Amino acid sequence: MYDLILKGGRIYDGSGLPSFNGDVAIRDGKIAAIGRISEAAERVLDVGGLAVAPGIIDFHTHFDAQLWWDPLASSSNEHGVTTVVTGNCGLTLAPCKPEDRDALIGTFVRVEAMPRQSLQAGIPWQWSTHGEYLTALERKPLGVNVATLIGHCAVRQYAMGEASVEREARDGEIAAMEELVRQGMAAGAFGFSTNSNQSHFREDGRPVPSRFSSLNEIARLCRVVGESQRGLVQFTHGAFATPEHVAHISQWYDTILQETRRPLIGESIRHRWSEPELWRKQLRDVEARARQGCAAYAMTSTRRSMRRWSLKDGGRLDMIPAWKKLSALPLAERMAKLRDANLRAELAQETVEGDPIDFSRRWDLIAVKTVARKENRSLAGMSIAAIASAQNKSPIDAMLDLALAENLETTFEDSTTQGDEQAVKEIFANPNVLLGQSDAGAHVASGNPGFGYATLMLAYWVRERKLMALEDAIKKLTFLPASIFGIHDRGLLRRGLAADIFVFDPAKIDLAAPQKVTDLPEGAPRFTQGAKGIYYTIVNGKVLMDNGAHSGAYPGRVLRSR
Ligand SMILES: [Zn+2]
Repeated sequence: MYDLILKGGRIYDGSGLPSFNGDVAIRDGKIAAIGRISEAAERVLDVGGLAVAPGIIDFHTHFDAQLWWDPLASSSNEHGVTTVVTGNCGLTLAPCKPEDRDALIGTFVRVEAMPRQSLQAGIPWQWSTHGEYLTALERKPLGVNVATLIGHCAVRQYAMGEASVEREARDGEIAAMEELVRQGMAAGAFGFSTNSNQSHFREDGRPVPSRFSSLNEIARLCRVVGESQRGLVQFTHGAFATPEHVAHISQWYDTILQETRRPLIGESIRHRWSEPELWRKQLRDVEARARQGCAAYAMTSTRRSMRRWSLKDGGRLDMIPAWKKLSALPLAERMAKLRDANLRAELAQETVEGDPIDFSRRWDLIAVKTVARKENRSLAGMSIAAIASAQNKSPIDAMLDLALAENLETTFEDSTTQGDEQAVKEIFANPNVLLGQSDAGAHVASGNPGFGYATLMLAYWVRERKLMALEDAIKKLTFLPASIFGIHDRGLLRRGLAADIFVFDPAKIDLAAPQKVTDLPEGAPRFTQGAKGIYYTIVNGKVLMDNGAHSGAYPGRVLRSR
């Protein structure tokens, strides 16, 4: 007798091997059998025609605070996520002395754009050490599994107080930090995170504590991680601002890898029109370290940064001189000019030719987002290039004829990042690149929240754009992060491993529209985002999400590295 059987699904087991049809049986929270199963179970779910995959492991979240008031880690729970990793970017809520609580809150408020009043009201502060944080979290019913990193900023604040945002550490202070990292790793953290991003400040305008770390300090702390023979280091450094910062980052990479001999997740790689070759250089850097035998990884985002605009507001195209001249004109005059054939020729040329800017310069990558008139409804969602070809016009005529017919109220959309599919394909396919940079729990006011990065991957990049096989995408979202973090009992569907599973329809999975809600402590607003086409999320053998609704169960656990 099994507890639960998933009957008749197509199994994507996380390894990247070809998918196959079969049943999955679960007993005592673990996968008990995979294949043709005829035994009985307390509950049988018919998953015929659906995909059965390991639960998503979201390895870059900032749920450190949110879990205390929202143990489901919403909206990640709606996207098949079964494990979240907290403590990224050098920021954690433990270790922490009572007198430093406000300072740690200040790092989250500024770097991660979370409302102070919610953090003040919502964090119960039942801990001082990292181990006590884990134990306190363990006493809470949790929807998803939680693995933690130890944040350098918290460690530094604990050892040095406010001197942590003023100067380099003295020998004794580094020794105290070593002890904090040693204790945290012994308690079961999955590694250490640090941050030298030059745009990361505390709420009071001071750089975050880890930015004052010397190379010696980072070396000694990383040596402790290495000695634990577990976990990894996550390193946030932001854009390469100056030659000095480039050299600094490079030294930190070498030191972290040398001292730990553990995996390192650093670099965030995205295609950007404004710097169209940067991603290649970043990939080459990661590959060079990998060739030397270092477990160096980068991450990328499946989300594209989108811009929505109309020719009524102007603005978006103002970096192109011919367009900029127009947007200064009153509306009627602007519309009159836009009918001029000579000006159209000039606009067309300047739009597609010239130096790289924060814009694709490609008609096939500008889409009509919304139309103002009923008769144009069929054009919504089409690219300018596609409309031009359907109407047998030049792209500039297609765009301007439509916009003029709608008093310039047509809205258009284009992307500033991840817009070049060939680049995205190479980035996603690279074995040293992890998919997912959700920042879930942070940047709460963003209308393009990161919870659904895996859903977007499976819906857009795999189904619509066919950039990668579904098997490979599932592997990248599950087995890869599980392996790199050392969460060895998850991330694969195998007999004996934890039954963390999500069931979805590859033909229907998609993002729902983002929603503004006011469910943070003290009624602060944030954006949530659900999913379509995800039917079951199972955590440690129990159904957590049933057709998008919480089952009422809290099967999540605090994971400890062992
Ligand atoms: Zn982060």
